[in-house]
Amino acid sequence: MIRSTKIVATLGPASSTPEILEQMFRAGVDVVRVNFSHGTAEDHLKRAEMVREVCRKTGRTVGIMGDLQGPKIRVGKFKDGKITLKPGDAFILDANCEMGDQQRAGLDYKELPQDVKAGDVLLLDDGRIEFEVERVAGSEVHCRVHHGGTLSNNKGINRRGGGLTAPALTTKDMDDIRTAAAIKVDFLAVSFPKSSADMYMARQLLRAAGGDAFLIAKIERAEAVAPGALEDIMSACDGIMVARGDLAVEVGDASVPALQKRMIRLAREHNKLTITATQMMESMVSSPVPTRAEVSDVANAVLDGTDAVMLSAETASGMYPVETVTSMARICNTAENSAPVTLDREFLDRVFTRVDQSIAMAALFTAYHLKVKAIAALTESGSTALWMSRLNCGVPIYALTTRTSTRYRCALFRDTYPQMVNYTGTDREELLEEAENVLLQAGLVQNGDLIVLTIGEPIGKAGGTNTMKIVKVGEHRRP
Ligand code: PGA
Ligand code: MN
Repeated sequence: MIRSTKIVATLGPASSTPEILEQMFRAGVDVVRVNFSHGTAEDHLKRAEMVREVCRKTGRTVGIMGDLQGPKIRVGKFKDGKITLKPGDAFILDANCEMGDQQRAGLDYKELPQDVKAGDVLLLDDGRIEFEVERVAGSEVHCRVHHGGTLSNNKGINRRGGGLTAPALTTKDMDDIRTAAAIKVDFLAVSFPKSSADMYMARQLLRAAGGDAFLIAKIERAEAVAPGALEDIMSACDGIMVARGDLAVEVGDASVPALQKRMIRLAREHNKLTITATQMMESMVSSPVPTRAEVSDVANAVLDGTDAVMLSAETASGMYPVETVTSMARICNTAENSAPVTLDREFLDRVFTRVDQSIAMAALFTAYHLKVKAIAALTESGSTALWMSRLNCGVPIYALTTRTSTRYRCALFRDTYPQMVNYTGTDREELLEEAENVLLQAGLVQNGDLIVLTIGEPIGKAGGTNTMKIVKVGEHRRP
């Protein structure tokens, strides 16, 4: 069964052998996330090589997303590795502390005492532990524990409401951008951006290092969802991640579901991609079946129209990486088939200013009404397929490209399935014939099927799509 929604799986110790990767790819992974928060540049290079090898072996097109750590603020290490805090305990976060104990902990971000004031709520370890700031004295932030628990080395700190001033790109991120360029990642995720300026800077650094990946802005700060901020960030990225882990800590968990819907809708309107992330199948870290709530969560993200759903610890360190992907694929498929396909009403309000975009929309509209078997978009940069995939028309979009980079990027687009065409000539009829052959050989269409084709003339130029053709497969063959 053909699945519209794509699956991103985070790699880690549980998914680092070719055997497991192969099973995960066959179960339906479309993009893997390489997390720069863990491991060395060499680890990441090796991992990317393994991913490409398994792609060759399985014939699957699985893109690679590098994910920068960003300015996640963390406590330092503890003498005994961890401490246990009880509600009502006094505790000090101290920028000058070298080694933590039961009374205090160090900070990797030395400016934190200047950023907080009495009354602020600080959340540690993804919100599992809560402190209230009582007073700030020099390098020390004196806190009272609200929710206690075990606090171990290097756990993250967020402030409720956001507003911590650490810059979006750290020195480590700048090094990791170079690694990302060396790996030739297809997507680069930027953590904690506050504005378009952070995204421009990341793009500039990536370009300077020779990379041309799509940029994904992780929306995980309160500032990023303030009025106008999402639009600003979207103007400078290719897609966003609904990064529910950190976002929930900053804005409060109950605000996240509505934000998820708003973000996905807005991204589609702006021709951007969306990845819905974090705790989607969390219980499957240690259980072979998901909970009812997780099934609903994944299905709802599908119904919201996300391009992709993401797995984190489930595939990075869980006990059931393959089973989790299999379950997720099944939930996506069922959710997609449970809702009737209607072309969104907003289609009529769309304003197209470009020729290629107009052709993409015309193809979509035609495919929807003629109920054709497939849309075949001959695309150099992938943008034609991207536009087509922003609205749901119930027809699979085959992105036929001669460029490897485009092939892997399209793996993340909803409803879009990349295929390579190996044609280097300049004859339009030959190219169209070759495109049909690719679809026929892959078993995606059969002779007699009606399909919509889009192409640019003269052929081979990016952004040049200017022609739509409705054809019956095999009918116009030259003898
Ligand atoms: P992370 O980002 O997994 O890198 O923290 C996703 C999130 O915060 O939800
Ligand atoms: Mn995060």
